[in-house]
Amino acid sequence: MDCIICGSSDLELLDIQNKYYHCQDCEVIFLDPAERVAQAEEKERYEGHDNNHQNEGYVKMFEDFIEELVEPNINLENINDVLEFGCGPGPVLADLLEAKELEVDRYDPYFFPEKVFVDKKYDLITSTEVFEHFSDPIKEMKLLTSHLKENAYLAVMTSFHPGPEEFEDWWYKWDSTHIVFYNQKTFSKIASDFGLEIIYTDQKKYILFKA
Ligand SMILES: [Zn+2]
Repeated sequence: MDCIICGSSDLELLDIQNKYYHCQDCEVIFLDPAERVAQAEEKERYEGHDNNHQNEGYVKMFEDFIEELVEPNINLENINDVLEFGCGPGPVLADLLEAKELEVDRYDPYFFPEKVFVDKKYDLITSTEVFEHFSDPIKEMKLLTSHLKENAYLAVMTSFHPGPEEFEDWWYKWDSTHIVFYNQKTFSKIASDFGLEIIYTDQKKYILFKA
C-alpha cells in the first residue's frame, strides 16, 4: 500500500490493532481502507450526532471557528460567495455565516446532496469536521480547489494528530468514521501539491489555505 496523500511507500504500521498506517514522509495517519465502516453505517453515525442549534457545545465550536480562524484572517467585505462543504444535518456554520451577511451554499453528501457548487466558484470554502472522514483526500482536494476563485480561501477544521506515540490514547480516532489524521507537515505537503499558501494554522485543529 502507498500513502493516500503523498504516494510514499514508506509506511509504518502502528501497533494499534494493526490497522493504522503512519506515513514517514508526509506524516499522515490513516486507517487501513479494509477497516472502513460501510457508508450506510456512516450515515447512521452522523444522524446520531446531536448536530443542531439546540446543542450549545456544537454552536460554540463554530462560533470559535469564526472568531479564531475566519475573522482575524479574512476580510469578509471581500467575500461574496461561500460554500459550506460537508455541512451536516443542521447547518449551523452556514447559518452563522449568513448572519454575517454572506451568501452561503450548503453541501453535504448525506443531508444536502444537491451539488450546488457545480459551475460555481467561491471566495471562501469552509469544511469543518469533514477532512477526517475523507477516504480519498486528494480527490476531495481536487474538487475543492477547482471551485476556488483566484486568491480565495479554504478554511478547514479537523483535529491534528498528536504523533504516533500518543496516537494510541487519542480520543479523536474513537469515532469509527474518522479515518484520516493530518498534521502540519501533511498539510504543508497538500498545500505545495495544490499551489496553495497556508495563511494561518494553530497546529491543533484550524488551517487556512489561500489559492
Ligand atoms: Zn505520505
